[in-house]
Amino acid sequence: MSKQFRVVCNWKMNKTISEAVSFVKEIPPLLAPNYIAVPFTALNALASLDIPMLQIGAQNIYPQPEGAFTGEISAPQVREAGAEFVIVGHSERRQLFAETNEFINKKVKAAILHDLLPILCIGESALDRENGQAAEVLKTQLLESLKEIEPKTFRNLGIAYEPVWAIGTGKASTAQSAQEVHFMLRNLIQEHWGEDEAQEVFILYGGSVSPDSIEELMKQPDIDGVLVGGASLKIKTYSKIIELVRGDLS
Ligand code: PEP
Repeated sequence: MSKQFRVVCNWKMNKTISEAVSFVKEIPPLLAPNYIAVPFTALNALASLDIPMLQIGAQNIYPQPEGAFTGEISAPQVREAGAEFVIVGHSERRQLFAETNEFINKKVKAAILHDLLPILCIGESALDRENGQAAEVLKTQLLESLKEIEPKTFRNLGIAYEPVWAIGTGKASTAQSAQEVHFMLRNLIQEHWGEDEAQEVFILYGGSVSPDSIEELMKQPDIDGVLVGGASLKIKTYSKIIELVRGDLS
């Protein structure tokens, strides 16, 4: 079964509602599902536009469905606002907000329970890599964040391999080295959940993806898509990525 190459965008804390609406109105027609994780404030406005093939998602959720958690937002809240997916465990949340694998695991479970497709981010730091610990760190993040996740979930689950040293730095991993990591992650899923699950899950690469790097990434057998931050904020680079993925420019 061949998978469609997926483009998932992460806008982080960028764009007001009106900026977000004008941006999505400018993007070229999509032929395959694209995903944009937008700030909570823009979720409902963008989801209500119902742009064909464009799924709108959240960048985070709190594990509890409701309660005294000032400033937080829950899975049912973003779902009703129009989110179809949610990014969990982004390295910025792990670093700036001290999120642990255990906490991220609760978010993955909350997303599944409330019918949101979770995209789990994992990634090693530059130091982990220098110390030869990248594989071990990734394995721990993967297995702890997906603890007790049922095999059937893998049909509706994304994993984003995002080396921390590559995020927002302009230093993307080479496609070959990302492929090696993706292969290892797929094997881990096969070992712990099964062969079908390893094939069904989609594994994205993220970290300074640009129109210049996408074509090599698309050629790799275990890279099912990309998670794009900075390059998805400008209509010129995002449109170019879409066109390359559609095959218009190759
Ligand atoms: C990200 O925010 O997940 C990301 C990959 O950012 P960038 O593409 O800017 O490196």
